[in-house]
Amino acid sequence: MRKFKAESQKLLDLMIHSVYTNKEIFLRELISNASDALDKRYYLSMSQENISLDGEELAIRITPNAAERTLTISDNGCGMSDKELESNLGVIAKSGSQDFKQVNVSENIDIIGQFGVGFYSAFMVAEQVTVISRPLQGEGAWQWQSNGAEGYTITPAEKEQVGTDIILKLREDTENDRYSEFLQEWRLAQLVKNYSDYIRYPIRMLRHKSRPKPRPENAGEDYAPEFETYTEEEILNSMAPLWKRNQNEVSAEEYADFYKNRFHDGNPPAKTIFSRAEGRVSYTALLFVPGRAPWDYYSRDFQKGLALYASGVLIQEKCADLLPDHFSFIRGVVDSEDVSLNLSREMLQQDHQMKKIAASLEKKIKSELLTMLKNQREDYESFFQEFGRQLKFGAYSDFGAHRDMLADLLLFWSGKEQKMLTLEEYAAAMPAEQKYIYYAAGDDVQRLAKLPASQLVLNKGMDVLLCSEDVDEFVLQMVGVYQEKEFKNVNSGDLELANAEEKEAAAALEEQNKDLLAAMEKALDGKVTKVTASTLLGDHAASLSAQGPVSLEMEKVLSKMPGAEQVKSQQVLELNANHPVFAALDRAWQDKDEDKLARYAALLYDQARLVEGLPLEDPQAFAALICQLMQ
Ligand code: ADP
Ligand code: MG
Repeated sequence: MRKFKAESQKLLDLMIHSVYTNKEIFLRELISNASDALDKRYYLSMSQENISLDGEELAIRITPNAAERTLTISDNGCGMSDKELESNLGVIAKSGSQDFKQVNVSENIDIIGQFGVGFYSAFMVAEQVTVISRPLQGEGAWQWQSNGAEGYTITPAEKEQVGTDIILKLREDTENDRYSEFLQEWRLAQLVKNYSDYIRYPIRMLRHKSRPKPRPENAGEDYAPEFETYTEEEILNSMAPLWKRNQNEVSAEEYADFYKNRFHDGNPPAKTIFSRAEGRVSYTALLFVPGRAPWDYYSRDFQKGLALYASGVLIQEKCADLLPDHFSFIRGVVDSEDVSLNLSREMLQQDHQMKKIAASLEKKIKSELLTMLKNQREDYESFFQEFGRQLKFGAYSDFGAHRDMLADLLLFWSGKEQKMLTLEEYAAAMPAEQKYIYYAAGDDVQRLAKLPASQLVLNKGMDVLLCSEDVDEFVLQMVGVYQEKEFKNVNSGDLELANAEEKEAAAALEEQNKDLLAAMEKALDGKVTKVTASTLLGDHAASLSAQGPVSLEMEKVLSKMPGAEQVKSQQVLELNANHPVFAALDRAWQDKDEDKLARYAALLYDQARLVEGLPLEDPQAFAALICQLMQ
């Protein structure tokens, strides 16, 4: 018996016990090796005159044998001579495939192996591994056999066809590990589908099935069908990945079907994004914008990520690093030969190649969403219904780091147009004299449209964005400026809408009613920082706004957050000097009826809060005041 080369025993032990977290990947590794061997044979037959394939189909075959407790993986690839068995399988961490790539430099070889360890993963499930191989170039056939740690033997063998059989004698089942699952046809089929679906060669397996026997002609009424078993050979993998085919050869339906099957979604995708990059990084990506948000999308349980393949072999089902949070709704696959894999090929090292791919995908996704926004407005709006909230979170989070990436993708409801608008569309429709981008924030669009301050803006022929989601105002504040215009909450005091004449009139009004306003302020006892009067409020008797950084809506949102400190806005109560109520106030003031003035002030203030959708501090007191008025 030959011993494994120095350190190999330790290495083998490591392979079996710690490199892989998942025993089942042994099949992926052996199939990948078989695929590499087929690639090599194909390559040699193309590049060397004296070697031809003679019409032989290059394929991989899986044969479970429950009676013998063996699983055989066969290929008719390049095979190995006794010397190659010695150097490739006798030395752990020696990759014949890597050597092959170095000797045969060609764009056409897309070989998977590189570390020289995958083969030994077989020992995770097998107590004995037998390799019988007949090389394409060279004499005879050879058998390599090993029970693991001790070492291996190489002896002459019988084998007619060029290629390799790997025969695994499966370990006995234990309480925790049921190795016999690898003898079950459905389980093997499942593993191939999962890890090796896009191996370019057919992976064949004989499957045992059952079907009803044909009904005999003389069968009576109480005939119960009998079943018979039969065998059928199946190709377990789909071979050509959809994303490797040219885009113009694949129909929209095929993409949609692929999406539905691969990602278990009953709804077709809202958009399919295909991207092939070559150059600094090369990859192929097939991405989808789902038609509907998954039920757990806005929960903590949701996991973002794209399926990552390297040369057709699944490396990671959900690779989170490939997607930024703001595009976490995207599903899809990325296939690249450029990513660096770690030894176990299960996880990726944090490498700059990945970062480049992720950055490139982010740009691509954005540009595709913009195209959709431009050309398929309705679709985009339904998309935004589902995922707009995530885009807004993205624009707001990380201190606005992604706002430039996302600002143009956001939609807000226009008070003037009564439809969704982008910030760009809003800005393009602004009258020349408009200083700010106006918005109103609260929880209901209809109510926001009726706010005194919204109507003031609308009456001036300008538009107001009606923001009814709690993140909206935070987003706009984070975006800060769009096309050099600041955002202004219509309830934030001076909207700078008044012309010179109106300004003068307002100043005169304030002066004239100075004492009344001061008395109101006093009566409201710290609830507002100021009481003012104007003639701009239309039908409304009074309106409430906030000065300074905290708006009324923000105060409301923040007060609902658990553990948040109470953040108070600085409120201004504006009275409509043209309203009959103002005359009533003035009368109370002239009569020196301080008590009445205080009650009116309280009523007007609470009423203004209600109009703004803010809770009342003391609803009972408000109700009592109303009743008093009615008596
Ligand atoms: P890797 O695939 O990363 O090179 P492995 O440990 O999986 O490492 O395999 C070691 C080497 O054994 C391969 O590089 C290849 O040269 C050889 N080998 C393994 N399986 C086969 C096979 N089915 N046919 C031909 N050569 C094989
Ligand atoms: Mg390998």
